[in-house]
Amino acid sequence: MSLLPVDEAQARLLARAAPLAIEQVSLAEAAGRCLAEPLIAKRDQPWTPLSAMDGYAVRHADIPGPWTLIGEIAAGSLPPETPLAPGTTWRIFTGAPLPAGADTIVVQEDVEADGPVIRMTGDGPSGQGRHVRQRASDFAQGQSLLPAGTRLGPPQIALAALAGHGDLPVRARPRVAILSTGDELIAPGTPCPPGRLPASNGAMLRAMIERAGGIVITEQLVPDDLDTLTAAFAAARDADIVVTSGGASVGDHDLVRPALDAAGGTIDFWKIAMRPGKPLIVGSLGQAQFIGLPGNPVSAMVTGALFLLPLIRHLAGSSRPLPIPRTVPIDGAMPPTGKRAEFVRATMTDGVVTPLAFQDSAAMHAAAIANALIYRPINAEAADYGDFVSVYDWATLGLE
Ligand code: AMP
Ligand code: MG
Repeated sequence: MSLLPVDEAQARLLARAAPLAIEQVSLAEAAGRCLAEPLIAKRDQPWTPLSAMDGYAVRHADIPGPWTLIGEIAAGSLPPETPLAPGTTWRIFTGAPLPAGADTIVVQEDVEADGPVIRMTGDGPSGQGRHVRQRASDFAQGQSLLPAGTRLGPPQIALAALAGHGDLPVRARPRVAILSTGDELIAPGTPCPPGRLPASNGAMLRAMIERAGGIVITEQLVPDDLDTLTAAFAAARDADIVVTSGGASVGDHDLVRPALDAAGGTIDFWKIAMRPGKPLIVGSLGQAQFIGLPGNPVSAMVTGALFLLPLIRHLAGSSRPLPIPRTVPIDGAMPPTGKRAEFVRATMTDGVVTPLAFQDSAAMHAAAIANALIYRPINAEAADYGDFVSVYDWATLGLE
């Protein structure tokens, strides 16, 4: 099997599965979820012209006054029943509705009240309509505000509330089973005898999955034993995604493919034209999507960010599941690449990216002080100081 280019592998992976079922959630539970339908405004915002300042509602034609004060209008009240007569004004507060006929606000700093007579002392408003929020100037009832597939963050949740929604249709959160393979692994935090290694991929993948909107339903260490791994796979087949780390190469102890086969799963593709992370396995297991990540911690991080997280976002209903690179100059020199794309750990500050010297795919310290991956395509020429390269920062990768 030849090596698949990264973008082709991502496209094939996402084409394998449709977004999960739609469920209705309250705004309190909506953060990080993706809209299953467009967000439609149920009301005009504002519903009527409102004042944007504390001041006096006037007819622009009456400026510079003076005016006779009629009364007060606070936020939450209805507009006065009678229209504003020429030469009169209402004291008005931020968010309060304008009387009919008023079209401009004179801010309170610009006037002096002399009993019921209001005189302008400052410059006054710069034009008609100043400090007035027109009806539906933010959005109008029936307007489509956000497309389906939008990820709901704090601003989108606020918008939904203003648009009249208390709950929203979103896609279910993908349920993920994490199986870390390797006889050498022991649980983090337990004493580590010679020959053993604290397992780091499970904790890392859990953090990545949960931030991307997935739910970890199980996280286990599984020894390199065909029967045990097969049984673990069989038990995980009800998940939406089964992700493994390690055991994905061709060594005698690399049992993920044979165990997947023994558990009744299938492999769609295997091996990606990338460094780190070549031995990635994509397939299915029961109703679950199966992703086998390499065991080296940095390889698991990079392939997790480029394949597992996009799959989670896609199942969760995102219309933009893939990380988005930007183009920035490098402060360093990079050799040409060959038949594999390279994802180079780097630090980016002030729009300039610096490749880290130590690029071992097991070097987690270097990866943990990096904040970006430089993407070097297949057969890229050498890059020199000041050249522009493609960079994925930690935020777009889901590694923050
Ligand atoms: P493997 O792909 O199973 O050959 O593993 C490649 C390397 O990654 C080996 O050095 C493993 O010890 C290491 N490794 C595998 N799984 C983990 C894990 N969960 N945490 C840390 N290192 C791991
Ligand atoms: Mg192993």
